[in-house]
Amino acid sequence: MDETTSDQPASRVRKVRCCIVGGGPAGMMLGYLLGRAGIDVVVLEKHADFFRDFRGDTVHPSTLQVMDELGLIDGFLKLPHQQLQKMDGLFGGTKVRIADLSRLNSKYPFIAFMPQWDFLNFLREAGRRFASLEVLMSTEAVDLIRHDDTIAGVRARTSDGIVDIEADLTIACDGRHSTVRERAGLGVEEIGAPMDVLWFRAGHKPDETENLFARIEPGKMMVTFDRGDYWQCAYVIAKGQYDAVKARGLQALLDDVVRMAPVLKQGIAAVKSFGDIKLLTVAINRLGRWARPGLLCIGDAAHAMSPVGGVGVNLAVQDAVATANLLADRLTRGRPSQDELDAVQRRREFPVKMTQAMQVIVQNRIISGALKGGGRPLKVPLLLRLISALPWLQGIPARFIAIGVRPEHVHSKAVPTA
Ligand SMILES: Cc1cc2nc3c(=O)[nH]c(=O)nc-3n(C[C@H](O)[C@H](O)[C@H](O)COP(=O)(O)OP(=O)(O)OC[C@H]3O[C@@H](n4cnc5c(N)ncnc54)[C@H](O)[C@@H]3O)c2cc1C
Repeated sequence: MDETTSDQPASRVRKVRCCIVGGGPAGMMLGYLLGRAGIDVVVLEKHADFFRDFRGDTVHPSTLQVMDELGLIDGFLKLPHQQLQKMDGLFGGTKVRIADLSRLNSKYPFIAFMPQWDFLNFLREAGRRFASLEVLMSTEAVDLIRHDDTIAGVRARTSDGIVDIEADLTIACDGRHSTVRERAGLGVEEIGAPMDVLWFRAGHKPDETENLFARIEPGKMMVTFDRGDYWQCAYVIAKGQYDAVKARGLQALLDDVVRMAPVLKQGIAAVKSFGDIKLLTVAINRLGRWARPGLLCIGDAAHAMSPVGGVGVNLAVQDAVATANLLADRLTRGRPSQDELDAVQRRREFPVKMTQAMQVIVQNRIISGALKGGGRPLKVPLLLRLISALPWLQGIPARFIAIGVRPEHVHSKAVPTA
C-alpha cells in the first residue's frame, strides 16, 4: 500500500453498498452477479484495460455452466476460442492419456481456451445493463478506510486524484499479491511449490497440429497449448532456477524447447530475447481467515493456486458465485455480520483445500521427480499408467480438472432490468 496517499485529503467521497477491488475473473464475475441482484456495487481495476498477457485463459466446464445459468453462454461461445477434450502427455517417450473430458456428464464437456481479456471484456459489456454496477478502470485501491475495527471501504488513486469509496462491504479480488489483504493484516499460509514456469508464445503455421499437451523428460517438463494462430508454451523449471537458465543463454533454452517439442521448430523464432519470456513464480497458499468485519477476500487473494490443472480462473469464478449466493440478498439490508462473511470461507475452503492437495500430489509425485532428472530414464508413474490404460478412469481426472470439487450454481436473485 502507498503510504504517501494515506494522509492526503480525498478530493471526492463516494458511498456504495459493496466495493470490489480487482477486475480479474473473481471481481468481474462477482460485480456482474451483484449488479444483476440490484446491489449498488463498484469494481475497481487499477489498469486502464484488460489487455495484459500473463494470465490464465482456460475456461472450464464449471465456468461454462455458470455462463449458461446466467443466459450468457451463446454470446460467449461466439467469441474466438479453441476447445480441448483429450489431454495427452509424453512421459519419457511414452504417450499417456491424462484426461478425457468427453467422458463427463456435462453440457459443455470441453475446456475453452480464450484470452482472459476477452472473457473479462465480455463480462464487462454484459454487465452494462445493470444500473447499480459500475466498473471503474484506472482506479487503484491504495489504502483501507477503517471505522474502529471495521473496514469501511477503500481509498483509491485515480487519474483525477484520490477518492474515498465508503462501502458496507469491501471484497478483495486483487489477486495473489493482494495489497488489500496485506493491509488488513490477514495471515497467509504458504504451502509452497517446487517449480516456476517460463511462459512464452511461439509462432504457429495454419497446418500445424499436435494433440500433445504435456511433455516430461528427465530434468525437464513443458506444456504446449495450440491456440490456433500461436502456441502458448509453459516451460517448467526448478524453483528459483531462472537465473541459472539465463546464464546458460537463450539459445540453449530454445534448443531444449525444440528438442522436447519439435512442432515448435519454426515458430520458436518468435522468441527473440528473454524479454519475450515471462517468469511465473508458482505459489500455493491460502489465508487462515478470509474475512474480518467489513472485508472479505476471494479468488487468488484468498488462495493462490498452482498452474497444475489450470484451475485458478475457475476457482475464482466459483468463489464469486458462492459469494453472491450467500451475500447478495443480505447486502440489500446493509453490512453482513462476521459470521455471514465467514460462511463464504466455510463454503469454499473445502474445494480449495482439496484442489491444492491434488496439486501438491502432482507436484511432489510427478513434477519434482521429473525435474530432479539425474540422467535415469523416466518411468511413467503407476497412477498415470492405469489412467492411460483404462479409458473409463480418464473421466476422474477430467472431472477433477473440469468441474472441480463441489461446483457452484447460480442461486442469487436477478432484479428485472429496464
Ligand atoms: C502466467 C500465468 C498463467 C496462468 N495460467 C492459468 C491457466 O491456464 N488457467 C487458470 O485457470 N489459471 C491460470 N493462472 C491463474 C489465474 O490467472 C488466476 O488464478 C486467476 O486469474 C485468479 O483470478 P482473480 O480474479 O482472483 O485474480 P487476478 O486474475 O489476479 O485479478 C486481480 C485483478 O486485480 C487488479 N488489482 C490488483 N491490485 C489492485 C488494486 N490495489 N486496486 C485495483 N485493482 C487491483 C489486477 O490488475 C487484476 O486485474 C495463471 C496465472 C499466471 C500468472
